Amino acid sequence: MRKKIIAGNWKMNKAFADAEELISDIAEGIEDLELKNTEVVLCPPSIYLEMASDIAEESEFKVGAQNISDKEWGAYTGEISAAMLQSMEISYCIIGHSERRKYFQEDHALLAAKVDQALTYEVAPIFCCGELLQDRDAGRHFEIVKTQLQESLFHLTKEEMRNVVVAYEPVWAIGTGMNATAQQAQEMHAFIRKTLAEKYDADTASQISILYGGSCNAKNAKEIFSQPDVDGVLIGGASLNADEFIQIIKSI
Ligand code: PEP
Repeated sequence: MRKKIIAGNWKMNKAFADAEELISDIAEGIEDLELKNTEVVLCPPSIYLEMASDIAEESEFKVGAQNISDKEWGAYTGEISAAMLQSMEISYCIIGHSERRKYFQEDHALLAAKVDQALTYEVAPIFCCGELLQDRDAGRHFEIVKTQLQESLFHLTKEEMRNVVVAYEPVWAIGTGMNATAQQAQEMHAFIRKTLAEKYDADTASQISILYGGSCNAKNAKEIFSQPDVDGVLIGGASLNADEFIQIIKSI
């Protein structure tokens, strides 16, 4: 059975003490929950990964990074590598977030190299894909998402692909308060699963968790999550508030 995942992407938010408080509050809030086949993943800024990891040792959540280098080690000032994440027992890394694609010009080939690094060091990529509003308006959304999957993931073997989590994040929904409807999410998730089944096989596709991300909050999470091909959510803004994030986890 594929895993359900509720992941929080904190982006570049929170000073150290606030971050520590938020992580501790979430840890406390999920203490008594029965998280059967469900993983809670917190992705704080990389400078806080060690602190998060220490708290995670005594708690039920996993820790993820927001980005990694496509390189292994070496003279790449400012970068962190998948090898480093593995050495700190960090389980996940977001790769291909639309903000990385937009502000840091990350292209398909670079993202493919990052995915390879992550898998080499047993860090599960949360691979983000999703179309711009103009692509959706022009009816190109399926084509855009398919290309993103093909260009950055489809060089992987079936065994490697089973360790990847896909996050469908329509760019027009990220941080805008304009979430995709449950039907729009289901339609795209089903399309992604079909595309994975065509490239690999139905069994592989059925084992890959596909998350929805984009203005998901405590009010809309349950409906979006009730869709058969939605296996979890990637939450930005609403993951910065412990009560709301815990409410989302409970609603799922
Ligand atoms: C994100 O950035 O991954 C995200 C889903 O953001 P938000 O929930 O704020 O739309």
